[in-house]
Amino acid sequence: MTAKSTYKAEVVVIGGGLAGMVTALELLDAGKRVVMLDAATRERFGGLALWSFGGMFFVDSPEQRKNGIKDSVDLAMRDWVRYGELDPNDVWPYRWAEAYVNRCTEEVRGWLAERGVSIFRAVGWTERGYFVPGNSVPRFHIVWGTGEGIVLPLIERLDAHEKSGRLQLHFDHRVDGITQEGGQVVGCHGTSGAGSFEDCRRPRQGAQGVAARPMGRAT
Ligand SMILES: Cc1cc2nc3c(=O)[nH]c(=O)nc-3n(C[C@H](O)[C@H](O)[C@H](O)COP(=O)(O)OP(=O)(O)OC[C@H]3O[C@@H](n4cnc5c(N)ncnc54)[C@H](O)[C@@H]3O)c2cc1C
Repeated sequence: MTAKSTYKAEVVVIGGGLAGMVTALELLDAGKRVVMLDAATRERFGGLALWSFGGMFFVDSPEQRKNGIKDSVDLAMRDWVRYGELDPNDVWPYRWAEAYVNRCTEEVRGWLAERGVSIFRAVGWTERGYFVPGNSVPRFHIVWGTGEGIVLPLIERLDAHEKSGRLQLHFDHRVDGITQEGGQVVGCHGTSGAGSFEDCRRPRQGAQGVAARPMGRAT
């Protein structure tokens, strides 16, 4: 017979990759109590970002200015639309591009800087384009420590929330489905390493499930 565990949370974050970590930190800093579930083991906390190069796409950043690189939102948008081959009817790709290009330096770089993530001074190229011109200027900002340089400071903060009891971290917990009641998402369920069935749901009203989304795409 397998054991059944039930977790209660104001918000459940599924996946402890970079998107899930950022989502959880924002929620915790806003005073929510969070349960985070991840199919992998604790050593893999951070997901793919742990192995990543840690290159971030920023526009008109302090690093670019110090290196005499003249960049602008307009130029970056033109590059993005051309290289991404966006069609004028691609409403959501356009909105995403505009949101990211306009806000990446202040919000994404700023958010990371506030959390102790620092950027290597030299700015590199990426996606210059073979057949279609890519970035017109260098925009690839490397984090000191590469992927681990992003993930480890975030883990430290999440660990502190875990110790305070506001965050429950459950690794080796794979979510297999979303639980719905009356047409509303109320939780999720899945399997853990011990083979037990988990039921993770809101205490009463007001809880939300959060599908983790990337904070920002580098190039
Ligand atoms: C070698 C390498 C280099 C890279 N370099 C760069 C770079 O320089 N710049 C850049 O911007 N990007 C780079 N990337 C890409 C970048 O790392 C990823 O796009 C980003 O980390 C994805 O984050 P994520 O949270 O969306 O997904 P993931 O990191 O994939 O995290 C998803 C998490 O969800 C968990 N999960 C999945 N399914 C379930 C389930 N059913 N139940 C519970 N948990 C589940 C997984 O275990 C994982 O922890 C690189 C990637 C690699 C591999």
